[in-house]
Amino acid sequence: MKYYVIKRDGRKVSFDLSKISNAIARSAKNLNLSADIEGISTKVENRIRDTYKYEINVEQIQDLIEDTLMDLKLIDIKNSYSNYRKERTRIRDLKSELMDTVHNIGVETDRDNANVGNNFSSKLLRIASETNKWHNLSKMPKRLAKLHELGDLYYHDLDSYNLATNCLHIDTGKIFETGFNTGYGTIRKPKRIESAAELSCILLQASQNDMFGGQSHVNFDNDMAPYVSSTREEIENEYDILKSTLSEEAFSTFVHNKLIDRVRQAMQGIVYNLNTMHSRAGSQVPFSSLNIGIPHSNDAALVCQIFLEEYEKGLGKNEQPIFPNIIFRVKLGVNRSKDDPYHYLFKLACKVASLRMNPTFMNIDADFNLQYYNKGILPATMGCRTYICSNINGPEGPNRRGNNSPATLNLPRIAIESRGDLDRFWELLDEKLNLLKEALLHRYEILKKLKVKDMPFVIGEGLMLGSEGLGPNDSIDPVLKNGSWSVGFIGLAETLIVLKGAHHGESAESRELGYQIVQCIRDFTDKTISDTQMNWSCYATPAEGLSGRFVLQDRVKYGEIPGVTDKDYYTNSFHIPVNYTISIPDKVQIEAPFHKMCNAGHISYIEVDGYPTGETIENIITYAYENSNISYLGINFHLRYCKNCGTYVNDHVKACPECSSRNIQGISRVTGYLSLDERFGSGKVAERRDRLSHDESHINTYLSV
Ligand SMILES: [Zn+2]
Repeated sequence: MKYYVIKRDGRKVSFDLSKISNAIARSAKNLNLSADIEGISTKVENRIRDTYKYEINVEQIQDLIEDTLMDLKLIDIKNSYSNYRKERTRIRDLKSELMDTVHNIGVETDRDNANVGNNFSSKLLRIASETNKWHNLSKMPKRLAKLHELGDLYYHDLDSYNLATNCLHIDTGKIFETGFNTGYGTIRKPKRIESAAELSCILLQASQNDMFGGQSHVNFDNDMAPYVSSTREEIENEYDILKSTLSEEAFSTFVHNKLIDRVRQAMQGIVYNLNTMHSRAGSQVPFSSLNIGIPHSNDAALVCQIFLEEYEKGLGKNEQPIFPNIIFRVKLGVNRSKDDPYHYLFKLACKVASLRMNPTFMNIDADFNLQYYNKGILPATMGCRTYICSNINGPEGPNRRGNNSPATLNLPRIAIESRGDLDRFWELLDEKLNLLKEALLHRYEILKKLKVKDMPFVIGEGLMLGSEGLGPNDSIDPVLKNGSWSVGFIGLAETLIVLKGAHHGESAESRELGYQIVQCIRDFTDKTISDTQMNWSCYATPAEGLSGRFVLQDRVKYGEIPGVTDKDYYTNSFHIPVNYTISIPDKVQIEAPFHKMCNAGHISYIEVDGYPTGETIENIITYAYENSNISYLGINFHLRYCKNCGTYVNDHVKACPECSSRNIQGISRVTGYLSLDERFGSGKVAERRDRLSHDESHINTYLSV
């Protein structure tokens, strides 16, 4: 009589003994054991037919296989078979979870990434992203996958694990000199400022589609300067005829005014373009950053000034531009002090930041920046805080380089698991650091398989250091060697609460331990550089999509721990908790030493109430840079404006005082980028709700003395 098996999907198929033999053979082979496979299989079959008359389902067969192996006292083979069965169940569960995720994305994209919208392309991108995350996790060694799944470590941008590297500082000036090809044709060196500005956007947009992170113009104002000069010449030639009728001075003023108009148009074009072109995977504007502020010529200073003025104006209805991120570099002798030639640019940058939360400010006089500056290298940063400068495999500096990939430690969990025993904490930290290194090295092995043609623009067109002389079918390995691997951490504050009962804002003893912990991570990355001959660095993780994830997993695992797992997020990297009352000078002094340790990127935020003045911002930055070795600062406030007429509105005000519209847009800074309030992830919503402003009065008192 024909015997049937009911499959998991309900289909009925004929019984096939070879499937049982194969499963048992595989379990024996995994242990290098020999066994009488045929004999065992026959015993299983007899038992099946004795127990179930006409048909049997898959789970019942598997139970009977286990029972038979047990009765035959083949314990090792039985265990091997059970493990295999469990693993298959796990994969099936994951698959069904994935299908649920895909279904939910169809309803609404989640808010994991603060800059993702909700249209068709966004949904499609999310579905691809979730599927590839699953694929990458299932392909990597199981123990590495588990570390991520269980929340010990976090592999950033898992959806791109096998596809691309993270970010890039574009050496825009050099690329303009040589021209480039976006895949559809050759772009020649620009002749005037308008085309240079347009091409600068195209560079960012074309790069975005090769990479998963952001890109920056590493030295924007200086790179644009030659095209101001060529535009001036063009105007002079065009209006040559006026030379005979105007005085030399009048002619030069005439040309200058025309030039200003054209530079203004060009800079406005950049602001508009970078906030409208959804050229990042078809659904987002590019994650763009511009480094400015250290002009090498008056033309560069002009670009810097006009760009800031145009950014300040905002978009068509005075709306806040979300991109680009602007990094204004501050340097004594250039722009920081009242007697410096470009001090007016610093003042302007502060004024713009007081309205737009951009620029953020980088301190070139911090000793670790100054050492490069004194060698003729101008440090830069990504607006998301990623920093790269040293290089064991080639020329130093940020130009044409970026981060390959970061991975982040769940630092509070290490503290929780050590149960307050510091010796155990250091042991566990070392263990986790080594696992994280292993995970990044695994990613390296995967990425190394990519060919130049897999990143056709950024590597194929020679934008990245290491791409010299490579053909389309060569491995991208030389580029990876010039990039960096970043070891990140999150929740230093919660870690210290677990270990010492207080965070580093509250107690000097905790502070000391905090510095030791981050220095330990830095020492580990320094050591790994010489072990691997690759660039490793210590990263103050901005915690995109991560601030809520670890804490949720830890609450499930360890319960509610006061000050640690009893809220919806872990504190950003080394930051003092956002709900702790602290003066600006204290915050600066406590956080400053971490900047130097975190050589893969760092930032401190000062939260202020309402809308600060440009002067307040200038005072804060000046105080911080005169009194500490702090490098990168952003001033945060909750920005709200009327979407109808552009008027700025204070917090909690529901209707516009000018036009009564209730269409109010809120904007905050999340993990380095500005973002519309409604696009926040839940961890970030909770974090913003808890943010307390830092007391400005000390700063103003200090400066008025
Ligand atoms: Zn209004």
